[in-house]
Amino acid sequence: MQHAETTGIIVAAQGNLMTVQFDGIVRQNEVVFVASQGRKLKGEVIEISGNEAKVQVFEPTRGVKLGDKVEFDKDLLTVELGPGLLTEVFDGLQNPLEKIAAQAGYFLPIGLYLPPIDRENKWDFTPSAKAGDIVERAYFLGSVPEGKIDHKIMVPFTFVGKGTVVSVAEKGSYTVDNVIATIKDEEGKVHDVTMIQHWPAKFPLRFGQRKLPTEQLVTACRIIDGPFAVAKGGTFATPGPFGAGKTVLQHQISKYADIEVVIVVACGERAGEVVEILKEFPELDDPKGGKLMDRTSIICNTSSMPVAARESSVYVGVTLAEYYRQMGVDTLMLADSTSRWAQALREMSGRLEEIPGEEAFPAYLASRIAELYERAGVLELADGSQGSLTIGGAVSPAGGNFEEPVTLNTLSVVGCFLGLSRARSDARRFPAIDPLISWSKYSDRFYENGDDIIKWRIDQIKIAQKFITESDEIGKKMSVVGEEGISMIDMVTYLKGEFYDACFLQQNAFDTVDSATMMDRQNEQLTLVMNILNKKFSFADRDIARSYFLDLTDKFIQWHYTPHKTDLYNEKKSEIKNLIEGA
Ligand code: ADP
Ligand code: MG
Repeated sequence: MQHAETTGIIVAAQGNLMTVQFDGIVRQNEVVFVASQGRKLKGEVIEISGNEAKVQVFEPTRGVKLGDKVEFDKDLLTVELGPGLLTEVFDGLQNPLEKIAAQAGYFLPIGLYLPPIDRENKWDFTPSAKAGDIVERAYFLGSVPEGKIDHKIMVPFTFVGKGTVVSVAEKGSYTVDNVIATIKDEEGKVHDVTMIQHWPAKFPLRFGQRKLPTEQLVTACRIIDGPFAVAKGGTFATPGPFGAGKTVLQHQISKYADIEVVIVVACGERAGEVVEILKEFPELDDPKGGKLMDRTSIICNTSSMPVAARESSVYVGVTLAEYYRQMGVDTLMLADSTSRWAQALREMSGRLEEIPGEEAFPAYLASRIAELYERAGVLELADGSQGSLTIGGAVSPAGGNFEEPVTLNTLSVVGCFLGLSRARSDARRFPAIDPLISWSKYSDRFYENGDDIIKWRIDQIKIAQKFITESDEIGKKMSVVGEEGISMIDMVTYLKGEFYDACFLQQNAFDTVDSATMMDRQNEQLTLVMNILNKKFSFADRDIARSYFLDLTDKFIQWHYTPHKTDLYNEKKSEIKNLIEGA
């Protein structure tokens, strides 16, 4: 039976927060439309008491008056799912920005909503289920090719209990609205299935068995893949001060990580930054062929967009990523930066006059952050295949001070901390991930489950990392007592640490070859690095030691810039070997 329409009127307004008196039934997080000046502005119910609801409107609310009418939609804020999400740029409410711009011109109009997924485009459907099959929600019925992804068409996630497939469409070309299957539920009711689904953004989309992430996500970035490894289906955070290289690092990871689908949530620091992303991203080539955008979807917001849209963008992004994981795909969701999202939470909480916690963030900040990263993970699906969702969040604390609520709460839930430091970016030691403060909880797990090469690698890295801490201490001592004040042995340890830093941990994101280093090449590099770190040198004096390591470092970096497995590559490698043996 259809509910009577619930309607209400605005009785108070404060910024984008409206108090609405209503008649009927209203649900928390229900979508509403405020009718104002012939437009309908979308919003969400965020608090209900008695017959009054607090409504956060996603659009600028200029011109909204007391007494304006409000319609309650009965649906929660949902994300539209289906083929055609990749290559798209959405805002935090999943409006397709390019299509809106094409329809409306330069300025994004208020209150214009277009469906996120194209209704006319046709997709080549190949069935995999057949009449009589017993299915449950999220079971595969068939698939369509979407770029390089085998996009599975699934039994609706809202389907309850076991169902019997009555019919499946033949192989052929269909729009997302065409019925491609019919399924009978346990009560005998037959449901039409199309390629489109909807899911409430704030609820995890996860059907299957959760597995512990045990496989390494190779990012092609040495300092990550070496000492601070990330797991497929794991989580990591990259806090850092402004300009330390968080965004460059995220772009590197989205480009080179061993991942099939990337969802980028750009909660812009400033409007210009989002424009840069929209201009740059579509240009980027995918190292696996084609354009990076073909397997990417971007959700973007600037800090000038209304607070609720900024808050929801992260949830829209993670839901899209979960959707692809549900097909057995390895996905990655990157949020840049989660500090903007946390600020949106703070603004909303402030307007609701909630009791503030630390630094005026709401008391539930910790649980919101935990809930978000909790949505990452490896999932075993009904057909035995696996999908994964890795979540990486940039954090931009004011002044780069990590002792603040967003950074601290993030670090207490993620599996890997890649802390960018001002000191390193000022010294142009990129990526500016600080090896003295960063950590990963995944390496031990890879060690337990890994093969001989993985174990060798982790053991070597542990030895190498000791040189970083030792050379840091010696360096500090040197800055007090001078080079003459330390022993020759300490001097060599210091130079070895600096060498390992320069030739393994640092990597040039702007050199076409060095920007991405695959695992086999990384292992070759590590072997030579270890030869040097383990060698007992006997230099006549400090100057000779210094110039030896300078030469070595230079040759190593030249080697990094040569394409793998070419003659020149082998030549440079032999030169370095000779230099090591000759010393
Ligand atoms: P953030 O997002 O932390 O504010 P960005 O990612 O925008 O910082 O980086 C700021 C600048 O630092 C870049 O424009 C670039 O010049 C430099 N940079 C960052 N990462 C690297 C890198 N890996 N290699 C070389 N330069 C880098
Ligand atoms: Mg940035």
